Amino acid sequence: MKSRLWLWLAALILAPAIWILAIFLEGEAPNAVLELTSGGIGRSGELSVSASDEKRGLSRISIDLFKDGKETILFEKNFASSGWFSGGTDHETSFKVTVEPGKLGISDGKALIRLSVRDYSWRKWLKGNLTYLEKEVMIDTQPPKVDVLSRVHNLGQGGSGLVIYRVSESGTTSGVQVGGNFFPGYGGYFKDPDICMALFALAYDQGPGTTIHVSARDAAGNSAIAGFPYHIRKVRYPEDSINISDQFLNWKLPEFAGQIPSDAPQSPVDRFLWVNRELRKQSIEKICETTQQTDKDIYWKGAFLRLPNSATRAAFGDRRKYQYEGRMIDEQVHMGIDLASLAQSPVPASGSGKVVFTDNIGIFGRTVVVDHGFGLFTTYSHLSAVDVQPGQMVARGENLGRTGSTGMAGGDHLHYGMMVHHVFVNPLEWWDASWIENNILSKIESVKSGLN
Ligand SMILES: [Zn+2]
Repeated sequence: MKSRLWLWLAALILAPAIWILAIFLEGEAPNAVLELTSGGIGRSGELSVSASDEKRGLSRISIDLFKDGKETILFEKNFASSGWFSGGTDHETSFKVTVEPGKLGISDGKALIRLSVRDYSWRKWLKGNLTYLEKEVMIDTQPPKVDVLSRVHNLGQGGSGLVIYRVSESGTTSGVQVGGNFFPGYGGYFKDPDICMALFALAYDQGPGTTIHVSARDAAGNSAIAGFPYHIRKVRYPEDSINISDQFLNWKLPEFAGQIPSDAPQSPVDRFLWVNRELRKQSIEKICETTQQTDKDIYWKGAFLRLPNSATRAAFGDRRKYQYEGRMIDEQVHMGIDLASLAQSPVPASGSGKVVFTDNIGIFGRTVVVDHGFGLFTTYSHLSAVDVQPGQMVARGENLGRTGSTGMAGGDHLHYGMMVHHVFVNPLEWWDASWIENNILSKIESVKSGLN
């Protein structure tokens, strides 16, 4: 009898003790995430840290950097406790730590970063549960060096250009900045893997004051820019007047019925204006999206083909004024060349390349986009038939489809566009073998032969 009483008493005391100990001695280690904002630590690097501990709360976080046998404390923080029994007041935290190797006396090279997070558990003789995270990092405080190798860079508004340059570090992303537009450059074309090439363009509305330079950014986030001499020629694009008749509206608007929102104004002229303004913007955005990926290969050779036996109906950069019943209702810039031949004429690929798009795009109607490599694209719009598939390689002169009047076209013609990455350029340059020789091929040749 006596021994059973003792058992009861023991259970009464022990059960809560075990329960309390289970809470205070919980063995769940804190969660922690350690990330670098760039691929390495440059002149100024940034670590992004988050940590959480659901049960007893966070007690201490420290970050140390180990390099050449030396330890440097990058960060340490003790978190408050709300009492012996209740544990830590903070259960989660996230913050960023700036690391400036120069100020900390840390030299360039490989290093190890260790994040330690402890909680307010009573485990490990009250030191708490510990989570360790280690990350190897490359410290590189030197910006990449950029040497521009190509020489003469003459550009007209709406014109294309090529720059060839050498970067001192592999893993560097680089390209040409033209005002607000960036054109990526790619290595791999020349024997020297550090030599990169970038096609770039001056948009039709970027004037002689536009700044152009090569910019490079290494894996650690160090950046460098290199200027090069260039000359910008102002181009005066002509005005063109387009008469919008009721007959044209009655013919064309039904084609856009499904694309005009129901809350848009309903008069034929207003519906036309919605198409000419809003749908035009959307269509240009969509055609730009098709140029986001490009092959790092030069597929084309020689001058680009113009639609055979065709007359030019509108030029690149034409400032179109739209007239309705004798008054001007809209103004837009024409970003391609309109070529008219016999109705439903076969449309040849103007240069060798890869078909990347064959679908309807708003005002452009049925459209084919061909990637010629290094960011150079041709676009063929208002087609009545398409005979190619995305992903298909086509040779210069190979049939893509037939001319037509799909989209905002007042008659059967080909709207021919050329783009350098996301910027429309004047196709006249690329139809001209001597322009290509002087501005593109001679630069590539002189770098190849080391005569730059
Ligand atoms: Zn056109």
